[in-house]
Amino acid sequence: MIPVEKAREIILNKVPVLPAERVSLESALGRFLAEDIISALDIPPFDNSAMDGYAVRSEDVKTAGTTLEIASVLPAGGFPVQPVGRGQTVKIMTGAPIPEGADAVVRREDTHEEKGCVRINKVPLRQENIRFRGEDISAGQRVLFAGDRLGPAQIGVLASLRCPFVQAGQRPLVAILATGDEIAELGEEASDRAIISSNSYTLISLVRSLGAVPLYLGIARDQRPDLKARLSRAYRCDLVITSGGVSMGDFDLVREIMKEHGNTLDFWTVDMKPGKPLAFGSLGGIPAIGLPGNPVSTMTSFYQFARPAILKMQGARQILLPRLRARLKDALKNKGDRTHFIRGLLERIDDELVVSPTGPQGSGILTSMARGNCFMVLPKGATCLDQGSMVECEVFDFGYPQ
Ligand code: AMP
Ligand code: MG
Repeated sequence: MIPVEKAREIILNKVPVLPAERVSLESALGRFLAEDIISALDIPPFDNSAMDGYAVRSEDVKTAGTTLEIASVLPAGGFPVQPVGRGQTVKIMTGAPIPEGADAVVRREDTHEEKGCVRINKVPLRQENIRFRGEDISAGQRVLFAGDRLGPAQIGVLASLRCPFVQAGQRPLVAILATGDEIAELGEEASDRAIISSNSYTLISLVRSLGAVPLYLGIARDQRPDLKARLSRAYRCDLVITSGGVSMGDFDLVREIMKEHGNTLDFWTVDMKPGKPLAFGSLGGIPAIGLPGNPVSTMTSFYQFARPAILKMQGARQILLPRLRARLKDALKNKGDRTHFIRGLLERIDDELVVSPTGPQGSGILTSMARGNCFMVLPKGATCLDQGSMVECEVFDFGYPQ
C-alpha cells in the first residue's frame, strides 16, 4: 500500500501545467492567473470624498456650531475650480476630488444648510472621510500573483487596473469514461443493467466545477474492443479519467489497456478507505487516472488525485482541499488499517465548528457524500476518536456553487 500523499506526488509530477492563454475579463471567472499583476496606477487616482457632505479646512471648525459659507458644489464627476478659502466650504458628493485647502469632509448628516451657508454640528478630525490617492493600490505594487484564482473581486481589481485581458491557465479538456457491464446510462436502463451510471454525472460535474471542460465518452463494456474504441476518442484531451475496472476482478481491464498504450503504468493499492485501488498511466501520451467504480470511492479518489491534477494543469497555487479542524459531535470508530475519509457534515453550533458523520459509510452509499460537506480524516492507526475531540476535515463544499 502506498500513502495518499505519495500517490498524489507521483501523479502531480507527471501532469504538466498547460500553456497559458489570453482571456478577457468577462470570461476570466474561475481561471487561474498565469502572470503577476503589477499596477501602473495609483488607486484611487486622486484624493476624494468618502461621503456626501462638506469639504472643510479642519482648522476653521474648532467648535460644533461653526457656520461656513458654501463656495461651490462639487458633483462626483466634477473638478474643483478654486481652493477652499478661510471660513468657506465646498459641498461635495461621494467620489468627487477633494478641493485644495480642504483636509476633511463633514458628513451631510452632521450639518444644517441654510441660505448659502452650512452649520457644522460635529467637529471634524483632520483627514476624516477622505479616501487618499493610492490608499488601495499604489503604482508599482504587485497586486495579484500567478496562481491566484480569479473570482469576482480579483476580476474587479483587474478592471480598476485597466487590464481588459490577462494571461490565465488553459481550461483542460478532460475525457471521462465509465466502465462496467452492469451499469446503464440514465434513460437507457434495462433489466440486466439496473445500476445507473451516477459516476458519469458526478465526474462531469466535478470536472466542470474545477473550471475544466469534460468530454464524456460514455460507458464502455468490460471488453477490450469497446474500451479501446471509446478511449481512442480521448486523443486530443489533456487528461483521461475512468471509473471502474481497476480492481482485481477478471474483467477489470482498464489497467491492462493503460499498460498497453502507455510506457508506464502505476497501479496502486492506496492507503485509503474508500478508494483503495487506483491506476495511473498514460494513453497515447495523455495522463490517465483510473478511479475505482464504487460511487463514493470514485469521488473520494477524484478529490485526492484528479482534482489536484486538474488544478495544477491550470496553474493553480492552492490545489489541495482546504483543511480545518472541527469538534466531533459523536465518537468515531475505525479499523485503523487505512486512512479513513469519513464523510461528515460541518456545522456551526454555538460559535464552534462541529462535525458529524453523514450516516452509513459504505463505498456505494453516495448519499453519504450528498449529505455532507467534508471528509473527516482519520489517520491510519487511529481506531477511535472520542466525542468532543478535534478532527481534521477536508472541506469539499463550502455551501456555494463554485
Ligand atoms: P468496479 O470498480 O468496476 O469493480 O466497480 C465497483 C462497483 O461500482 C460496481 O459493482 C458498480 O456497482 C459500481 N459502479 C461502477 N461503475 C459505476 C458507475 N459508473 N456509476 C455508478 N456505479 C458504478
Ligand atoms: Mg466494473
